[in-house]
Amino acid sequence: MVKELNCNSCNTKITNLVGSVRFKCPKCGESEIVRCAHCKKIVARYNCPLCNFTGPN
Ligand SMILES: [Zn+2]
Ligand SMILES: [Zn+2]
Repeated sequence: MVKELNCNSCNTKITNLVGSVRFKCPKCGESEIVRCAHCKKIVARYNCPLCNFTGPN
């Protein structure tokens, strides 16, 4: 079963987007953060829904 993924910052579907990234929250390591290539490029903020970590900063 494929989970639909949305960018954590702009909420764009990244299912078939090239250059998007997925990584675990650097603070709690529990939540998976998803970012599209665009938000990665402009360094858009993301936040962890589990521990409220906000990055990248
Ligand atoms: Zn995005
Ligand atoms: Zn977290």
